[in-house]
Amino acid sequence: MKTRGRSKARLPRALGLLLLVAVMWCECPAKAAEGIHADLVLSNGRIYTANPAQPWAKAIAIRGERILAVGEEQEIRSFRGPGTIVIDLAGRMAMPGIIDSHIHFLDGSLALDQLSLDDAYTIPEIQRRVREFAAAHPERPWLLGRGWLYDAFKPSGLPTKRLLDEIVPDRPVVMECYDGHSIWVNSKTLALAGIDKNTPDPKQGGVTVGIIVRDPATGEATGVLKEDAVEIVRRVIPQPSRDEKLRAIRNGLQEANRHGLTSVVNASGSIEEMELYDQLRKKGELTVRMTTALMMQPTLSESTLSMYEEGRRRFQNEWVRGGVIKAFMDGVVESHTAAMLEPYSDDPQLSGSLNYTPSQFRDNVVELDRRHFQVITHAIGDRAIRTALDAYQAADQINGPRDRRFRIEHIETINPQDIPRFGRLGVIASMQPYHCYPESNLFNVWARNIGPQRLPYSFAWHDLAAAGAKLAFGSDWPVVSLDPFIGIQNAVTRQDQDGRPPEGFVSAQKVTLDQALAAYTRDGAFAEFQESEKGTLEPGKLADVIVLSQDLFAVRPIEIGKTHVALTIVGGKIVHREEGL
Ligand SMILES: [Zn+2]
Repeated sequence: MKTRGRSKARLPRALGLLLLVAVMWCECPAKAAEGIHADLVLSNGRIYTANPAQPWAKAIAIRGERILAVGEEQEIRSFRGPGTIVIDLAGRMAMPGIIDSHIHFLDGSLALDQLSLDDAYTIPEIQRRVREFAAAHPERPWLLGRGWLYDAFKPSGLPTKRLLDEIVPDRPVVMECYDGHSIWVNSKTLALAGIDKNTPDPKQGGVTVGIIVRDPATGEATGVLKEDAVEIVRRVIPQPSRDEKLRAIRNGLQEANRHGLTSVVNASGSIEEMELYDQLRKKGELTVRMTTALMMQPTLSESTLSMYEEGRRRFQNEWVRGGVIKAFMDGVVESHTAAMLEPYSDDPQLSGSLNYTPSQFRDNVVELDRRHFQVITHAIGDRAIRTALDAYQAADQINGPRDRRFRIEHIETINPQDIPRFGRLGVIASMQPYHCYPESNLFNVWARNIGPQRLPYSFAWHDLAAAGAKLAFGSDWPVVSLDPFIGIQNAVTRQDQDGRPPEGFVSAQKVTLDQALAAYTRDGAFAEFQESEKGTLEPGKLADVIVLSQDLFAVRPIEIGKTHVALTIVGGKIVHREEGL
C-alpha cells in the first residue's frame, strides 16, 4: 500500500487488528492514569534518532502531530492506552524523516509527466526515446522532457537541433539538460521563439546572462540555449494551469513520501507556488513540509522587497514557509558557465562569468540581511563561491553579528583558502551528494573541465565539514532522483554501482554515514532555522519519522542505495506504507 496522503483518516483500516492487540497489551500504568496516551507507538525498532544525546532507541510514542517519548521498549509501553495504535517494526531501522535541503518541487512534479532522458547514454537511444514519446503523445502540442547528459554528445558535449529535426520536424520539442541550465530544442521551437542569427545573447545590467549557442561559420543558432537564454523559449511554452500544477504536485508528494522525504527547501519558487502548497495544506493534503525561496532580482526595487516581505508574512507555519531569497551567482562546470578563478583546463579562453557584479551582489545581500532574510546562493565555480562569501562577510561586518545562516548551494569546486570561511562565517554548505556520482559525465566532462590541479577540492564535503561548516544535503530534483539513499550511498562511497573507482572519486572528500545522515536530518533542520521543531527524534518535536527496509549501519555502503522506505510518517500521520509493515 502506498500513500495515505489524501485521506483524513489517521491510519489505515487494516490496522484495526493491531489496534486490538495494542489494547490487550496495554498495561495502563501511571502515564495512562494521567491521561497521557500515545496515538501511535512504533515498537521493537532500531531507531536512529540523530540526537547526539540519545543516538539510538527501541520505541517511539507519538501523540497528535508530535513526538511524546523516545526510548526503550519498557519506557514507551507506558504510553500505550486503549486508543493507541502500535506498529511492530520487527527490528527495522527507523530515523527522522529526510529533509531535502535543495529541491525544485514544482519542476520535479511536472517532470514526472514528461520524457525522461536520465539514463539515455547514446544519441540513437536518445532519439529513439524522443520518437517514441512523440508517437505516444500525438495530442501534445509541445513535447517537453529533461535529463540529457553532455557526455552523450561527444566530442563537443552539446547536441544540435538537427538531431531533433530528424525525428520531430512538425512540433516544438524542448529537452532540458539534466542540470537544468541548458535546453536543447528543434528548429520548430527556435522559429516559435523568434530566435535567429540576429537574436542577441540576453544581458542584465550590462552583464551577459545567457548564451545562444551558434554555428561559428554561419552564426545560426545550433539548438542549445544556456542559462538565461532559456527564458526566450520558456516565454512561448504554454504554462500549465493551476489545476495541472496541483495535480502534478500531488503526484510529487507521493513520490517524495515514498522515498522518505518529509521536508524540502525549494531552491526556486514564487508566491504563486507557495499558494498552491498552502491550498493543499488547508485541505490536509500537504504531506511534505515546504520552505520556498523567492528569486533574487538583480536590483531590489521597493516592489520586489515588498513581495519578499509578503512571502514571509503570509507563509510562516511548519508546513509552508517563506523568508528565503535565492540567488544564482553562476552557471555550471559542464557548459563552462561556472565562474572560475583560473580558466577551464580544457579551454584556456573560458573561465565562466558572474551573474552579478560583486558590488551589486554585496549591496543586495546587505539589504536583504538588514531585513533578516536568509540568503542562499547558487555558486558552483570557485570564483562564484568566493564572491558569495565576500558578500556574506560584508553583511556580517556592516549589519553586525547575528545568527544568519546564509547558505551556498552546490560548491562543486572551491579554492582551499575559502574552505575555513564557511565555519568562521557560519555559512551552510548546501550540497547534493549524487551530483558527484562517478560516471562518464563526471569524468569525461566535469573533471576534464576542472583539470587535475583543482580536482582535490571537488565536492569537498569532508574538508568543509572538518573546517567547521554544517552540511545540508539534498537532491536538486529533478536534476537527479529525489531518492536520498542513492545520495547517502554516494556521500560515503563516491563510487559507482560497480564499486569504481576502488577508492572512490577524490576519496578524501567522503564523509561518514553519521555525517551524511546528519546532513539529511538534523543539520537540514538547522539550515532552515527549524532545529527546535524537527531533524531529530526527541520529545516535543514534530513526528516526522521513516522506517527503512534495511539497516544502513549493517549493510555494505555500496548497498545503501537499494534501501526503500517501508513507512513514512509526517506530523504523526502515515502518508506512505509498504505492504508487510
Ligand atoms: Zn537547484
